Amino acid sequence: MTTPPAPQACDLLLTDIGQLVTLAGPPGPRRGPLDDLPAIADAAVAITGERIAAVGPRAALEAAWRPARRASAGGRLVLPGFVDPHTHLPWVGSREDEFARKLRGETYAQIAATGGGIRATTRAVRAASVEQLAAAARPRLDRMLAHGTTTAEAKSGYGLELAAERRQLEAVALLDRAHPIDLVATNLAAHEVPDERRHDRAGWLRALIDEVLPALRPHAEFCDVFCEAHVFSTDESRALLEAARALGYGLKLHADELEPTGGAELAAELGAVSADHLACTGPAGVEALARSGTVAVLLPGTSFYLRLREHAPARRLIAAGVPVALATDLNPGSSLTESMPMILTLACLNLGMTPAEALVGATVNAAHAVGRGHDRGRLEPGLLADLVEWDAPSWRYLPSHFGVSLVARVWKRGRPVWARSGAEVPA
Ligand SMILES: [Zn+2]
Repeated sequence: MTTPPAPQACDLLLTDIGQLVTLAGPPGPRRGPLDDLPAIADAAVAITGERIAAVGPRAALEAAWRPARRASAGGRLVLPGFVDPHTHLPWVGSREDEFARKLRGETYAQIAATGGGIRATTRAVRAASVEQLAAAARPRLDRMLAHGTTTAEAKSGYGLELAAERRQLEAVALLDRAHPIDLVATNLAAHEVPDERRHDRAGWLRALIDEVLPALRPHAEFCDVFCEAHVFSTDESRALLEAARALGYGLKLHADELEPTGGAELAAELGAVSADHLACTGPAGVEALARSGTVAVLLPGTSFYLRLREHAPARRLIAAGVPVALATDLNPGSSLTESMPMILTLACLNLGMTPAEALVGATVNAAHAVGRGHDRGRLEPGLLADLVEWDAPSWRYLPSHFGVSLVARVWKRGRPVWARSGAEVPA
């Protein structure tokens, strides 16, 4: 006769999980079409410190673990916290006047010509302190958390001069320390050519390579470039990103958003961690990404908000084996939303993704798109205990219910950090 092993100690046992989707699996991003996700009914999660100790059926975990504390998920759905891998978080000001002008038929170019668009935000950001930038961004992070996001990428790119770009990245660092959401900083100084350099593009490009990218390296893990016909050409983008790579940045690229420019091919060629937008990417770009390790980050909120006819070729990317992630593109002009659940709905309705592919895109693959696939995006022993309880009967239900947040409670690094009224963790 053998005696069962003695239960191990853990800090917390979260039980009464109606349905648990761990997205456990191989370490790399997920590729290929996906219709179903394994789910565990009547599940539990054991947590020690910031990390997951075990996941599985409640009965098995009750037998194997002796928790210091317990919490009930009340029969709710539990998923890994969402990772939002593309946001322009640190800005000040608002541009609702442009929303109305667009509704009256004005184009982006017309609005830009009268000082609107990115230019308007740049004027406001240049006048703002680090503290003002952080204060403006903080409620956005609160809304992200309340919509199930526990890690987000945050780009600079509205300063368009060294000092203001640095203040944006300092605000990101300040918020990363002060707010439960983990932030991944990206230098997007190459977002646009600033007004005062309009007749000296070459000078701005030189300044970016010689001064701005080196000076901001300590403040940002990734470097991103807006590669578009009217902003930075493919050759200019290659020069910028090669310089960034030599400085030790990971690479990202705003690619083929408005016109096919070969941005996807460039991202693949340079080994970028992600190629983002891709609304106009053609077959050659899809093939190049499929042969690379680059994650395609699709932003269906942007095409929705700008009422664009072109949508990213999600089905062709998935069929070719490109890992696809989803992001809000949170910014004041072309996608003003913090809601990843809304993005999941748009990915299903407008990009033709399945609910399973959309969920993978917001968790596992999104984590890989910001270089965090090793420690989040899945619920497995050893990974961060970033998990969200949803007022939903099943994972398939989530994208079918849009425009509201169904989040009941959010756990970040093993601690309860947000709850709707009535779902607070009992003291
Ligand atoms: Zn963007």
